[in-house]
Amino acid sequence: MSWQSTAEYYRLLNELTAERLGGLHSARCLLYSVDFAEVAVLQTEERWAEAAELLAVAGERLVLSGAGVVLVCSNTMHLVAGPLAERVPLLHLGDVTAAAVRAAGVTRVGLLGTAFTMERPFYREHLAGHGIEAIVPDADDRALVHRVIYEELCRGIFTDAAREAFAGVVRGLVARGAQGVIYGCTEIELLLDSAHSPIPAFPTTRLHAEAAVRFAVGERLADIAPAFSRV
Ligand code: GLU
Repeated sequence: MSWQSTAEYYRLLNELTAERLGGLHSARCLLYSVDFAEVAVLQTEERWAEAAELLAVAGERLVLSGAGVVLVCSNTMHLVAGPLAERVPLLHLGDVTAAAVRAAGVTRVGLLGTAFTMERPFYREHLAGHGIEAIVPDADDRALVHRVIYEELCRGIFTDAAREAFAGVVRGLVARGAQGVIYGCTEIELLLDSAHSPIPAFPTTRLHAEAAVRFAVGERLADIAPAFSRV
C-alpha cells in the first residue's frame, strides 16, 4: 500500500532469501504497487467492496504472471481478506502474526495499527481465532497512532517525537497487562525497533516477509501459517 513499507518488504524478501540461500541469491518476486492516495480514499470512505476488487484484480494479475502466493502488504487491508482469499492464494498476515505470537507463549497482546485495524473487529477476531486476546490503546492514543501513520509514516517522516509518543502508548498497554505488542501496521517497524518496547514486539512486515521466503524455499504453509488452507 504505502510505498514506504512496500520498499521494506522488497528489501527484506531479498535479504532473507540471501541469508537462506547464500551467495548472490535474491527473491524471485513480482510487485504490484498501487497509488496509495486512491486506496486511502477507499479506506476513509469505507468503500471496502471497491478496495477488495482493486486488490483482487491486482492479485489475479500477479498469479497470471506466475506468483505462487500473494501477500497484501498492509494489516488494514486484511479487512477484505475474506473476499480476496476467494480469488487468489493469500498468505494471510494475521495467520503469520498469530503464529509468531503463539510461538512466543504470549496470549494477551497489545495491538498498534490504524484505527481500522484497532477498532474494527476483523483483526482482533482473527487473533481470537488463534487463541490470542488483543487489547488496543485508549481512544486518544488510538487517534494519535492513526494520525502519525497517515500523516507521517506513510509519507516517509520518522521523528523522535513520534518514537517517544509510540513508546508511551506501548507503556500504557503494558500497564494493562499486554505481554507483547504487535506492530500491526507495516510502517511502524520503520519507526520503532524492538528496543523501543519493554515487552516482545511482533513486527508484521518482517514476519510476513519471513513467511513468504519460507514458502518460497519449499516449507509447508501448514507449518508457516497454520490456518492457511488454500494450497
Ligand atoms: N500499512 C498500514 C497497515 O499495515 C496502513 C496503511 C495501509 O493501508 O497500507 O495497516
